[in-house]
Amino acid sequence: MTISQTAPGGYRIEFQAPRPPAGDTSGWVLTETAFNPATQGHAETIFTVGNGQQCLRGSLEEHHPGQSPAAFMHRVWDGVPLAVSELANLPRWWGIDLWLDGQRFGQDQGQVSAYCRTLDLRDGTLRRTLTWTSPAGCIAELDFERFIDRSHPARAAVRLSFKVDRAALVRLRCPLDGRVENKGLIHLDVTDQGSGSDHVWLATKTRTTGLEVAVVAKVSLTGEGPAGSAADSTDQTLWPRGVDRRGTDADATPACEQRFWAVPGVTYRLTKYVAIVPSYAQERTLAAAWQAAQQAAEAGWDQLARVNATAWLDFWTGSDVVIDGDLEAQLALRHAIFQLAIAAPKWTSRASIGAKTLSGFGYHHHVFWDTEIFMLPLFTFTQPAVARNMLEYRHQCLGGARAKAKAAGLRGAAFAWESAADGAEVTPAWTFDPFDRTKLRRIWNGERQLHITADVAYAVMQYWRATGEDRFMLDKGAEIVLDGASFWASAAQQEADGRFHLRGVVAADGYHERVDNNAFTNLMAAWHLRTGLDLAQWLATNHPQRWSLLASGLELDPDWLSHWDQVATNLVTPAVGPGGVLEEFAGYFTMAAPDFAMMRSPSRTQSIEELLGLDGVAKTQVIKQPDVLMAAYLLPDIFGPSELKTNVDYYDQRTDHEHGSSLGPAISAIMARRVGRLDLAYQHFMRAARADLLDVRHNAGDGIHGASAGGLWQAVVFGFAGVHWGSHGGLEARPALPPNWRRLEVNLTHLGQTRRLVIQAT
Ligand code: BGC
Repeated sequence: MTISQTAPGGYRIEFQAPRPPAGDTSGWVLTETAFNPATQGHAETIFTVGNGQQCLRGSLEEHHPGQSPAAFMHRVWDGVPLAVSELANLPRWWGIDLWLDGQRFGQDQGQVSAYCRTLDLRDGTLRRTLTWTSPAGCIAELDFERFIDRSHPARAAVRLSFKVDRAALVRLRCPLDGRVENKGLIHLDVTDQGSGSDHVWLATKTRTTGLEVAVVAKVSLTGEGPAGSAADSTDQTLWPRGVDRRGTDADATPACEQRFWAVPGVTYRLTKYVAIVPSYAQERTLAAAWQAAQQAAEAGWDQLARVNATAWLDFWTGSDVVIDGDLEAQLALRHAIFQLAIAAPKWTSRASIGAKTLSGFGYHHHVFWDTEIFMLPLFTFTQPAVARNMLEYRHQCLGGARAKAKAAGLRGAAFAWESAADGAEVTPAWTFDPFDRTKLRRIWNGERQLHITADVAYAVMQYWRATGEDRFMLDKGAEIVLDGASFWASAAQQEADGRFHLRGVVAADGYHERVDNNAFTNLMAAWHLRTGLDLAQWLATNHPQRWSLLASGLELDPDWLSHWDQVATNLVTPAVGPGGVLEEFAGYFTMAAPDFAMMRSPSRTQSIEELLGLDGVAKTQVIKQPDVLMAAYLLPDIFGPSELKTNVDYYDQRTDHEHGSSLGPAISAIMARRVGRLDLAYQHFMRAARADLLDVRHNAGDGIHGASAGGLWQAVVFGFAGVHWGSHGGLEARPALPPNWRRLEVNLTHLGQTRRLVIQAT
């Protein structure tokens, strides 16, 4: 490990061996003490659990009005109008319905007290406990638990433990519900189904892509008497006694039912061991699901929980961050890391993380630059094998990227602004105007938000530098970087002034569309071209055979490479305004200055975009997220210290941090920290920390803001801990911690070695 330190005064830095997290639950458990039907969509999102293959929102086991129940699995794509494809909502496998003396349990029926829901981030277990008084007055203590096994892609388990205060006739139903939809659109047809006294199964097929998904649940019911009683909890023929068990077979919703007389004082426990298998993973989906569910049931809850917890321990040993002195920040950061971990493809390199992870319907699960620039660094520096999966996904998207470039009459590979199964562009061309749904609005991002190609290349280079994996670079990475560079070299057009221009692009700032020579786009394009040239040189020198294959396959002859050089050198760089401010795009300085008082007014509750309209905001200097500062973050050499300060002061004021894009605050925190404005940095950081947990934008119900979550980790590591590439190629730390942070511990993996960087305020 080559982490070295350049510690400023006030800190002691140590490098320790990684160790599994220890200690109490503090900073590990997300807790909800009251159920609020009005904000249940938000709660469903933040209580999402998963395992890196499939995720389940915090949707309740029983039906509840107003929920958006959903579970998603990587690669289960199906067609959708306009947005082309989205992941199909999986059959509702986690359902458990309970009746006491004929009255159906629901939190909107009878009375609920002693309610508590917790998500334990250490092992991804979601638990809900409550006391329910049925309308007829029967009192039941209910305890629901669920997890998706992190040690196995297909397995999950859910159970209900309960006791009643009086003898009651119990009906328990464990359905597998295939009648699911994505906001009104049905993706799955049920092709077969069945049930018996202790099992239920469902075979489904996606409507347009023809992918099969089989779900099998094995059901067990036990009863345990009070301590010291002779009740035998294992022999189900004896205990609970007199259970009527049967399969029921309603269309598309087979179920396994249990009816019995419950005795007060006995804890009954119904467990559903579930396996979900898609046809891309196994040919005989039903047989494979059957086997996995059977094995899970044989292992039993405790054993399954143990292997799941071990897999999580392994994850946290590599990826935990400890913030001592700031419980809110600690919990928010672990929650962010957890939500990314469950969505990041652990078992496949044919998927990546969508903008809203696997926790909601937002953005149809499409993959944006959010992944490479915001989320990926967490994995590159703590779970490189998972990061590699996501970069390999991009390699598989090259076909789509080449087709996109070709369709525009250009060379090379232009990555899709939004991509899904295979890298074809899936950004919808039209959408409803969010502020006037009687109108349609053209979306230009698919054609004109070009910087994604450089963003992907940036992530590849960062991965290579962090891991030193030449093999990956030779097999996959180089092709991504080189073919992307070819795209830029053909997209930039030489004009009468002899310079190269990129006109009509969508700026990274999010509000300005079809502008000329956007700072972020041009700076990243020039970086990409130069990086491509260096890489070509490295290949030609060190791996001539591979170079010759790539050069002939990608048509990289010396003339073309010298054109890259020409473009990189002569690509228009943004104008420099008063005091060294870089102009965000041609003409930006002439746009209307924002109303700064209104922008920073604490009483503002809407985004500037909502207040001025989409066209209105585009005529001002207001930006939704950093653009010039984003470039300065990724390319730290573009500014010297005083220019950086000038640019931070200028653009920070013009950014709608409060209600603009969730991508911005974490990066704004890093840049404020870099110019020594620690208070401002902490303010931005906490805004990012609250994006999902406090739902500051009122849209967390659509899914976790993945970029904000990944940015939060970067704000701690590259911001407050000040981790950066040192002059000798290793990582160095130059911390400046918020005053309330007493100690910060960060796990980092560099060149295959994991170390725990411990920064202690002295
Ligand atoms: C932002 C984009 C981002 C997308 C998905 C938009 O609001 O402007 O930069 O990629 O959301 O999160």
